[in-house]
Amino acid sequence: MDEHAIKKEIIRLKKEQDVLILAHYYQIPAVQEIADVVGDSYKLSLEASKTDAKTIVFCGVHFMAETAKILSPEKTVLLPAIDAGCPMADKITAEALAAYKQKHPDRKVICYVNSTAAVKALSDVCVTSSNFERVIEHFKDEKLLYVPDKNLGKYARRKFDLDMEVWPGFCCIHNDLTPALVDEMKQKHPEAAFIVHPEAPLAVIDKADYVGGTKGLINFVKTSDYQRYIVGTEKGILHEMRKTAPDKKIMVLTEDLHCWDMKKTDLNTVYHALKNQVHPITVEEKTAKEAKRALDLMLALSAS
Ligand code: SF4
Repeated sequence: MDEHAIKKEIIRLKKEQDVLILAHYYQIPAVQEIADVVGDSYKLSLEASKTDAKTIVFCGVHFMAETAKILSPEKTVLLPAIDAGCPMADKITAEALAAYKQKHPDRKVICYVNSTAAVKALSDVCVTSSNFERVIEHFKDEKLLYVPDKNLGKYARRKFDLDMEVWPGFCCIHNDLTPALVDEMKQKHPEAAFIVHPEAPLAVIDKADYVGGTKGLINFVKTSDYQRYIVGTEKGILHEMRKTAPDKKIMVLTEDLHCWDMKKTDLNTVYHALKNQVHPITVEEKTAKEAKRALDLMLALSAS
């Protein structure tokens, strides 16, 4: 089938089977275009928690589909690319976190949503890149541990002057950014604003005109007076930015800002997931219950 025919089939099957397709901003443009909702982790979590659809097809990586299943346990959640993982989420295990908690029972655990259900289940609250400031605000006088992203953790620790230890995990896409890369691009485009995701190292963040989560970066491009942007996050986001601000010039800091796991989903895998009801996500009941507690608290605190 050609692209047009596959899209038509996806739309037909979606209606026939009462399916909601969610896609992250880092997905390829063709997948974003057939999704019912495109968003960052926070928005997609919200959509997953309130949809009436019988089935959710999650175009993203495993922890995202797992989160949708935890928030909507009665729904079928399908992950089209079953091997789409997140190297950052894999940088911490539930066993290692349990061992840390035994040694440091006084520290509350703030858990980035980019983590497994088992790690969320051992955490006090979850955060995403768009709500961590609002959520952490409620814990700022406590002793904390942030898992698993050392970069976002260090950024939050400095910003709020927190007593917070950070797990040594990172996103291999953002962690490779360097100040030299920024200098090189700024030299070529001195009039452009450099905007970056807080998963980047602090030395890179310190060179930014704006720091924000996925949605924050899109909003900044939409609303600021700059006409040119150098973007320091996964390049899939440029699709939405260009749609939202078609007259502005938007460049990615480096072509290496490419998450291979996010790109494992394409129209064929979505079509296959819908047609054959693959691959359903399951989460063990006790783990799901505990992880939901941490996610529900995040949703409540970010709404307040
Ligand atoms: S961009 Fe980084 S944090 Fe996001 S899914 Fe890919 S590896 Fe994980």
